[in-house]
Amino acid sequence: MDDLQFGTRNKRGDWAPKEPLQIASSWAVPFRLGQFLKFIPGYLFPWNAFHIATALLYWFYVVPPVETLQTLSWGWALWLYAVNAAAIFALYGSVEFFWYVKRKQGTRFKYNGKFPADQPSDVFWFKSQNIDNFLRSFFISIPLWTLVEVIFLYAFAKGYVPWLTWSANPVYLAALVLLCPVIHEVHFFCIHRLIHTDFLYKHVHSVHHNSVNPSPWSSLSMHPVEGFLYHAVALWHLVIPSNPIVAMFQLHVAGFGAVNGHIGFDKLEITEDTPLESHAYAHYLHHKYFEVNYGGDGLIPLDKWFGYWHDGTKEAEARMEARFEAKKARANAKR
Ligand SMILES: [Zn+2]
Ligand SMILES: [Zn+2]
Repeated sequence: MDDLQFGTRNKRGDWAPKEPLQIASSWAVPFRLGQFLKFIPGYLFPWNAFHIATALLYWFYVVPPVETLQTLSWGWALWLYAVNAAAIFALYGSVEFFWYVKRKQGTRFKYNGKFPADQPSDVFWFKSQNIDNFLRSFFISIPLWTLVEVIFLYAFAKGYVPWLTWSANPVYLAALVLLCPVIHEVHFFCIHRLIHTDFLYKHVHSVHHNSVNPSPWSSLSMHPVEGFLYHAVALWHLVIPSNPIVAMFQLHVAGFGAVNGHIGFDKLEITEDTPLESHAYAHYLHHKYFEVNYGGDGLIPLDKWFGYWHDGTKEAEARMEARFEAKKARANAKR
């Protein structure tokens, strides 16, 4: 595909989409039912449908029987870890392998014209972004993801929280499934904004931001505090009446869905003319400029409401610069 039909490339080789980022079309004013109905397929496919599918696969083929879950043991916890790690290895690894190692698409639709493997840096373990990000994902974040999974499965199995059944509550649970991406967006925005405060940024979140030019392995490259808080979104299902499959879907939106913001390409060319939209641009801009786009790509436009939204345009750039100047002035005034 010709990426210059869809965007522009600067002298450094960085590609940017021509069209400014849009918040979810469901927010269009005035509200139009037709437009809202058009929004739904894109809301479900392909990403959320994929997370629903993996949650079901886990529930029927991976999660042990309830009697087993009622007793905490390393056996089933390590089994869940092994499946989570293998699934991430397959999913993130295949994008890494074809797009970052084989570079099958070159730099077409790539926001940053360079590849992390070509840019060694002292901020990373072994000076390598790839090795650093890989080790942090598999030995810090995926174990914490599994810990959250063990906590909610155990709580449901022991009857510590209500376990609503599908037969008795089909409408409520279906509605809750549709709300999961919204819960994710709000939870992520709040913890993310929190770890951008000075102290927590310095000691926690800067680990994730070392990857200024993220690739899939960067998705879960986190400090342990962030790794736990991020996946803890699934624990909301111990607070609201829910069901373990819905909690599993919530967890997969976080764990598997983290890759979306870190693909680094606007479109993945699955075949010559079948592009897969990555939805990565908003979070790519977050990695580039740090203090913009704390949420996802505008499902709930919290960034817009709080004044952090950067849609990739020059106007957004100017608003951001003005905000940074004002912040600097406030910091200087305090001294
Ligand atoms: Zn990120
Ligand atoms: Zn951040």
